[in-house]
Formats: sequence, structure tokens, C-alpha cells
Amino acid sequence: MPFTLQPEQLDAIAPFTVACRGTTNLVIERVGPSLRVALGADPTGQDFLSTFQVERPLGVSTAADIRARTDQAFLLRPHAPDLLLRMQAICPADEDRIIFVGSLVVSSEEDMSRLGLSFGDFAVSDPTPDLLILKRSQERNLQDLALLNDELVRSAGELHAANLTLGETERRYRALVEQQPLVTYIDELGDEVVSQFTSENVLELTGYPAERWVHEPDFLFKVIHPDDADTVRRAHVAAARAHAPFKADFRLTHGDGHTIWVQAEDRPVCDDEGTPLYRLGYLMDITERRVAADALRAAGTRLETLIGSLQAGVLLEDKHRHVALTNEAFCTLFHIPVAPADLIGADCAGAAEQSKLLTSDPERFVARIDEILAQRQAVYAEEVEFADGRVFERDYVPIVVEGVYGGHLWSYRDVTPRIEARREIEEAHDAAVAASRAKSEFLATVSHEIRTPMHGVLGTIDLLERTALSPEQSELAAMAKGSAGGLLSVINDMLDLQKAETGNMTLEHVPVDVGAVVAAVVDIIRVRSDAKGLRLELEVDDGLPGDLLGDPGRLRQILLNLVANAVKFTDRGSVAVTVRGAELPGQDTALRLEVADTGIGIPQEAQRDIFEPFAQADSSSTRRHDGTGLGLAITRQLVELMGGSIGLQSTPGMGTTVTAVVGLRRGPATGPATPAPAAPAP
Ligand code: ADP
Repeated sequence: MPFTLQPEQLDAIAPFTVACRGTTNLVIERVGPSLRVALGADPTGQDFLSTFQVERPLGVSTAADIRARTDQAFLLRPHAPDLLLRMQAICPADEDRIIFVGSLVVSSEEDMSRLGLSFGDFAVSDPTPDLLILKRSQERNLQDLALLNDELVRSAGELHAANLTLGETERRYRALVEQQPLVTYIDELGDEVVSQFTSENVLELTGYPAERWVHEPDFLFKVIHPDDADTVRRAHVAAARAHAPFKADFRLTHGDGHTIWVQAEDRPVCDDEGTPLYRLGYLMDITERRVAADALRAAGTRLETLIGSLQAGVLLEDKHRHVALTNEAFCTLFHIPVAPADLIGADCAGAAEQSKLLTSDPERFVARIDEILAQRQAVYAEEVEFADGRVFERDYVPIVVEGVYGGHLWSYRDVTPRIEARREIEEAHDAAVAASRAKSEFLATVSHEIRTPMHGVLGTIDLLERTALSPEQSELAAMAKGSAGGLLSVINDMLDLQKAETGNMTLEHVPVDVGAVVAAVVDIIRVRSDAKGLRLELEVDDGLPGDLLGDPGRLRQILLNLVANAVKFTDRGSVAVTVRGAELPGQDTALRLEVADTGIGIPQEAQRDIFEPFAQADSSSTRRHDGTGLGLAITRQLVELMGGSIGLQSTPGMGTTVTAVVGLRRGPATGPATPAPAAPAP
């Protein structure tokens, strides 16, 4: 049955069809719609072989060549534009027609759209669109593969680098683990102590090699001190079961037999999901620390015992003013009704506020504590009066350890008996001073009263001597005169001393001729020294300033006392008087008076008090030599009044040297001179 297709049907099933007619010349009779789009024109009516170039089969140049090759695939390339068709030639038997049926050869969707075509321009049976889609997805796959490949290459590189780093890191960690003083270990989870890894330095620390720790389960409990085993076991099992950290200090018996203290600490290490994998920890030698801590504890206990047994109230505060330690005495003192141990940690500032009422000046008590704490300077033996009349001596000692302030210590000692004794002594002293003053005033009054009649007696004897007297009467009159003169000199000395001691003695400031003063003294004394056969040597510095101001009478009195004593206590040899210029702080200038003799000297034990009133080296010698023991006391008072000092050097049997330095002013004479009492002859 003949089979006929309508042109539209042909267009639908073969949209790239080219139909031609002719026996020798092939004229294009019809072109499929999609091919028209691809060509951009309708070549109907044109010569087929001029419009299309037959690329395959080779050697086709006529209609007959085409008809001879209907069993082959044709590749037709239109002269323009650039596209390729893959066709089959169909030659119906009774016609001079040739129909090329096939499709466009496109390698990409881009080519397709460049020709203005879409997938809908291809016949349903044409696999080209599918192939293009397939190709596209394959291309994508290829791209993905390429990316994947790149990624793999990169990852491989990274992995390699990471491997290298890991090796290096592991090496470093190992070195680190082995080098540090800590022993590092990895234990399995579980009640028993089973080590997966123990660093080599465990040998040094414990005396047992790492292999034993790793290969002998529970090895720890083979070497732990028996007294610590149970506690550590319990703590370890509890930590292992709870997957909790474990930490303990305990003793081990070292491989060489001695006991060491160690600290072990480990904790579980988990994977990303939080599942524990193993326990990682360290072992550390803490023997030194434990020994030090034990010593410290012992010292602390000793300190506590010591403070507890002290009679003083002691309070040790930390830097935040909390009680660190105190004792019974402190609690009693401040009426604190609890045991010292119960006070530890209590706030001291509040306590001071409460205790203040016990003191005689509560506000001052608190303010002073604040002041001391602000200054942080040690305070010793500060008196604190209590309202009940007791007096305490308080010490404050800041505790500074290696430059860091750590708190402070208060100590309160009851010094009431001492203070009372001191008060009594002070009162007794005041009474004694008052009595002494009364006595010396009485003495002064009496002396003064005696002096006037004594002058009368002396005057009367003078008058008596001028009358005609028998030799015996003259002798008696002379004796009476000597005694009266001696008595007057004692009275004068006593008045002088009293004046000096009560601060009533004043000095003149008139021009002083030192040479003349010395000469006058020597004149008086020479009679006596000659009588005893002594050499009287005199040396006065001739470079002394000429404008000296002072009290010539008192100067003469000083020198006379010293020279008279020297002559009095020297039986052989010499008395040397030296006067030189000197310096005294606070004085314009000074004189150094030195009187050296070769006399009996002063015993060592008497030297200290020799400048005190009525002091005499040897009362028997006084009896032999006369004197009251007032001369040196007055001399010292005068020297000190002149801003100077006096001292002596003496060797019994060899002689004595007394040295006095007295201050003098310089310059023209000032103001009216205070009349000085006439210097008595010693
Ligand atoms: P007095 O000479 O009147 O006793 P002083 O005060 O002058 O009083 O002297 C006190 C004592 O010091 C003397 O009694 C004597 O024992 C001793 N003394 C003073 N000067 C000398 C001296 N140059 N050599 C030895 N003893 C001396």
C-alpha cells in the first residue's frame, strides 16, 4: 500500500529535510523549517550542489553520484553559514527526486543557539537535543571531577604536610615530656591503674623504669606507701567511675628505698562526642615542698603555742584586718567572751570599735589604731590607758615578707605596776626636789645671816690686832681671824653653789685680761707653793685675742680653785698652769685652762663624783688638807655657766691634770655689768 506523508508531517518528523528534483541538475524543491532557520534563508529553487558542499562521501559531484550512494551517510555543508548536516539520501524509485533526511551536527548548545535554533526545532525522534543535554551534564560532571581532583591533590598535599608536622610535633612533645620535671602518663579508664604510656623520666623520679609502670597493671599500688594506699585507691576509683579529675598527694617508696612525696593529677580526655578515651595526667616530686610545709606547720604550731602561753595579749591580723591568731590574754583583756580559736577570721575593725569603751579615751583609741595602720611603721611600748586605771604597753609590728605586707601583730602588756612604781618615784623625786630646794633656801638664808656677823667678827679682830697685844694675845687673835676667815669662805662657797644650782648666778661680760687674771692667781698661790718647795710653772698663750669679754672674777675663781687644789694635794714636784685659746660650739671663742700637778692623785672610784658638792676623794686627806668639798662643784657650775665643761685625768701617786674649757665673747664691752660677788680666796 502506497505510503504518503503530508509536507507538514514531513516537516514535523524531519525538520532539516532538503528535497531536490532533477536528473542531472538538482534544484532544491523544499527545505525543512528548522534548516531554513539555521541557514537564515530559504534556498528553495537554488541548485543543490551549488548551495551545499558534499563533504562525505568523498568524490560526489553529480546527482548520479548521490543516487549511487543512498546507503551512505552524507555530510553536507552549506556554503554559508558555517554549519554541517548529517543526512541520508532517499531516492523514491519512480521519481527523479532526491530527499535528504537527517539532522544538524551541533557540538554544543551554544552552537545551536548561535544558529537561532532551540531544542524544539529538532524532531522528536532526533537524539541531538538529548545528546547535547547529556553532553552538558557530562561536561558538568567533568568539571566537578576536575574540581574534586584539584581538591584531592590539595588535600593530599596538606595531608603530607600535616604528616610531616605531626611527626615533628610528636618529636617535640616527646622531648618536652621527657625533659620537664613532671612525669606524664596516659592511663586506661577503669578502676585499676593501667598505664598506656609513662614518660621515661619516671625512672629518675621514682627509681622504676617506664616499662614497669606501663606493663605491670596497678604498679602504682606496688610502690605506694602503705599508709596512703587506701586513701589514694578510694580517690582514684571514685574519680575513674565519675570520669572526674583525680588529684592526690601521697608517698612512694623510691626504687632505692627512701620515701618521696609525689603529687598525681589526671583527668579524662574525650573524643568529639564527649566519650572518655583515656586519662591524661602528671606525677610530680613534691618532697621538698612537703618537707617545707611540714616545717612551716610545725613552726606555726610552735608560734601558736608560744603566743597562747604569753602573758601579753597578742592579736595577729591578716592584711584585710581579720583575726589570724590571738590568745587567751587578749580575749581576757578586751572582755571577749569566746575562745581565741573561735575569733579566727573575725573582723578586727568592728572589734576595735566595740572595745574602745574599755579605754580611758575611746575616740583616741580608735583614731590612733587607724593612724598606726595607715603608717604601717612599727610602734613599740606605746601606753594605752584603760578606763579602770590599768595601763598597757602596746606594740604594733607590720609583717612584711619579701617586701609584701601580709598583716600585722598587736601586743598589749599590762604595765600598771611599773607605771604605778614610776608615778611613786616621780612623786618621791618631786618631794625630794622640793625638800632639797627648801633646804638649800634655808641654808642660803642661814649662810647669809651668818656672813654679816662674820664680817663683824673679822673686822673686830682686825681692830683688836691693831691694839697693843701680848705675843700670846696676838697669836690667839691670828687664830681667831684664821678660823673666822675659813668659816666665811665656807659660807661664801655655799652661797655660790646655792646660787648656781638655783640658776640665780649671772655672769658679767666685761673686757677680760686673761694674763692679768692668771698673774693674780699665781700671786696669791705662790706664797703657799714656795712654802711647800713646789715649782709653779706658768704658760699663757700670747696669741689670745685682745677683745675678750667675760667675767674676770669668776674666771679667777675657777683658776684659783684648781691651782689651790693642785698645790694643796702636791707635796713634791711641780704645779703647771697652762692657758690656751680654744673653740666651743655656740661661743665666740674659748679658753682652755689646764692645771697639772705631781701630787697624790685621785683614786679611780672617786673621780666620777669629784665634781659633785661635798665630794672628797678621801676624808682622811681632807682632814689633813682642810676643805669642804665644795670647790670643784662650784667650779663645774661656773664652767658650765660659761658654756664649757670640765674633766680630769688622774693617777693616784702620780698626779692630777684638771682641764676646763670656758666660753668667752669677743667685741666691745656691752651694757651695764652685773656685779659679780667678790671671788673668795679658797
Ligand atoms: P676641797 O678641796 O675643799 O675638799 P674640792 O671640791 O675642791 O673641795 O675638792 C674635792 C676633793 O677632790 C678634794 O677633797 C680632794 O680629795 C680631791 N681633789 C681635788 N683636786 C685634787 C688634786 N689636784 N689632787 C688630788 N686630789 C684632789
